[in-house]
Amino acid sequence: MMAQKRIAIYGKGGIGKSSTASNVAAACADEGYKVMIIGCDPKSDSSITLLGGKRIPTILDLLRQKIDVKEEDIVHEGYKGVKCVEVGGPEPGIGCAGRGIIVAIQKLKQMCKSIDDMDLIIYDVPGDIVCGGFVAPIRKGLVNQAYILTSGEYMPLYAANNICRGLAKIDTQLSGIICNSRSVTREEDIVRKFSGEIGSKLMAFIPKEQIVQDCERDGFSVLEKAPDSPVAGVYRELAHAIMSNEDSVMPEALEDERLRELTR
Ligand code: SF4
Repeated sequence: MMAQKRIAIYGKGGIGKSSTASNVAAACADEGYKVMIIGCDPKSDSSITLLGGKRIPTILDLLRQKIDVKEEDIVHEGYKGVKCVEVGGPEPGIGCAGRGIIVAIQKLKQMCKSIDDMDLIIYDVPGDIVCGGFVAPIRKGLVNQAYILTSGEYMPLYAANNICRGLAKIDTQLSGIICNSRSVTREEDIVRKFSGEIGSKLMAFIPKEQIVQDCERDGFSVLEKAPDSPVAGVYRELAHAIMSNEDSVMPEALEDERLRELTR
């Protein structure tokens, strides 16, 4: 039996983490893997494209309503049986998102025994590492592989570099970099160089394609709505690369001047 992969995808807010996570989940489900996606972003939209555009109730909302929560209230089956869970966020202005993630996942583990049978669990975690709260899933041993999503633009790379610093600080290795293209000049080259210089590797270059936005708008993954599109093939390759990846390194963040040079 293969070891369970529990991955988290980090990266600057808005860089496309949810879209990448749901397309990888769909590609792995197509291959027959048992997959769960756990959305940890307060926006609670990580799984929406696996559920035909439907929003599901979040664990934290259900707990706040003091409902006697059952597994079927929080785990919803989406495309090809992918199990979808949304943690939700704290009430605006109060509460701690990081703490909420831990409480919600403890509840999920109590309720959902089949979590141990999954081949792949994807944690879709919020934006940049702004505090220890967001790395809570790693700290609690819930995640065994961390990936960073970036484009070749300076700001997302700056965030990626900071995340490397954060991971090194909590003694956590990085398993790879994924480039979600914004059609920047020499983008693949820039991100490949960045990946190499921090000691890691580029897992995939996802081209900027309108079809990704179109599928998302309609509430579907590209794998479901446009399975023959070239970008669906890229997600399939990325899914395969993640499922077979055993490498990880302690990333060495670059000096800011080097980062600027790379993107010039
Ligand atoms: S910034 Fe961090 S510590 Fe502060 S509320 Fe958010 S998760 Fe919690």
